[in-house]
Amino acid sequence: MTEPSRRPLQRKTPLRSKKPWRPERKPLRHRSAKMSKIYVERRLLVGEILNQRPLCEARWDDGCTRLSVDVHEILPRSQGGRIIGGADSEYLAVCRYCHDQIETNPLQSHDRGFRRWSWEGHL
Ligand SMILES: [Zn+2]
Repeated sequence: MTEPSRRPLQRKTPLRSKKPWRPERKPLRHRSAKMSKIYVERRLLVGEILNQRPLCEARWDDGCTRLSVDVHEILPRSQGGRIIGGADSEYLAVCRYCHDQIETNPLQSHDRGFRRWSWEGHL
């Protein structure tokens, strides 16, 4: 048996790149192509609903500004609510003030018919 060499290992081929390897970083898309298509439709639907229903349908309290500017989904998106293709009754045309109130007071909203729970499903 020969004594193992004490010399450090020598590279025989050059490194391919002088730069250290980094994963390619591209910013993440905010929306997939599929979702982008849905949102184009959604904008059209919102425009249509707001045209047909120009007055706030919630009238939460005296803070209501009367003119509808938002479309509220009675069944939240996170609970399976449809942002497009639902029945007219699944959406409410509301002013920003009322929309805020609806979103921040889910229990009261439910009592007043502005919100449904996931297990209640669509109207
Ligand atoms: Zn309102």
